[in-house]
Amino acid sequence: MAYRPETQAIRLQTARTQEKEHATPLFLTSSFVYDSAEDMAAAFSDDTLDVNIYSRFSNPTVDEFINKVAALEGAEDGIATGTGMAAIFSTFMTFLSKGDHIVSASAVFGSTHTILTKYLPKWGIDFSYFDMTRPETIEALIKPNTRMLYLETPSNPGLDIIDLEYVSAICKKHNVLFVVDNCFATPAVQQPIKFGADLVLHSATKFMDGQGRVLGGVVVGRKELINPLYLFVRNTGPSMSAFNAWVLTKSLETLFVRMDRHAESAMKVAQGLQGHAKVNSVKYPMLENHPQHAIAKKQMRNGGAIVSFEIKGGVDAGRKFLNALQMISMTNNLGDSRTIASHPASTTHSKLTETERSSVGITAGLIRVSVGLEHVDDILEDLRQALDKS
Ligand SMILES: *Cc1c(COP(=O)(O)O)cnc(C)c1O
Repeated sequence: MAYRPETQAIRLQTARTQEKEHATPLFLTSSFVYDSAEDMAAAFSDDTLDVNIYSRFSNPTVDEFINKVAALEGAEDGIATGTGMAAIFSTFMTFLSKGDHIVSASAVFGSTHTILTKYLPKWGIDFSYFDMTRPETIEALIKPNTRMLYLETPSNPGLDIIDLEYVSAICKKHNVLFVVDNCFATPAVQQPIKFGADLVLHSATKFMDGQGRVLGGVVVGRKELINPLYLFVRNTGPSMSAFNAWVLTKSLETLFVRMDRHAESAMKVAQGLQGHAKVNSVKYPMLENHPQHAIAKKQMRNGGAIVSFEIKGGVDAGRKFLNALQMISMTNNLGDSRTIASHPASTTHSKLTETERSSVGITAGLIRVSVGLEHVDDILEDLRQALDKS
């Protein structure tokens, strides 16, 4: 299709039915019927056949969502899952076997860290962590049994950024699968496949939904990689519900305009917090003082929606700040039209030891703000009045 990504996010749609609906229909059905016994037999003869059988592995609404994400990421194909964690776990289970080794950024989502450190070793899969701010240390971690390199950029919640092209060159040289969690940026901001990633995955729960309603996950990449992933999802069942896929595919229609506004407001929030008496430092990819600002400019269209800052006074001040917020929501989600503030040290990353936390840039006073779509002055005023009280 020749349309630009902004248009594909809106116009890519399941074939119109005889009802002539305008908005995309929701196929809320667990199974599908056949015209004949012969058709039914044919449907089961080949696991990779493109025919609707059963919604654990084939559903037109879910397929529409997958096709859109694949188009936006510049990928050939994809699979969808019930949550972002199911997308990550399915990817690990499909491509890693007993005796294999995975190299991962240490600054990954909390539950991803738990899979890498608590579950994979149980099945004889070993891991090594690298520091996002020291990419020059990655190559030395690769061993003969290394199968996968995994990272998030920007990272959560530290907002560290890594050069995707640089990492992909190392992966190609050593024949290692390069997997990127692109949840924070979304394809409206960054397309890792363009920079050499093999697989790109998402928690669709965040910006893809964008309004904090449903859970979902998705993985996209080359067909030859998606086929084994498809068979894993088909047979083990971490599948996406058709209802959630319908919500998500409708949400993708507004992804680009939402991300533009998120980023515009996030930049204003970042600038507005700089120099505040209660703030030690502000981090945002498009601020010139961000340590990897040059890389951000190279691979991201804008800085995304997440701003982090370090409040003076550590854990205590962080708690006071959250309690003083009037409009901004106190929740650990992100990627919502509503602005959200969280305190990673006491919530999402509380299971890490203090040393582990500091190694991924999470200090006691770190506040993460997912900048929403409210008027930016209302967001800034709430942040400022809460800072004054903390
Ligand atoms: C939320 C999140 C996940 C997990 O996704 P769920 O949909 O909550 O399972 C994974 N990676 C990142 C970066 C996230 O923010």
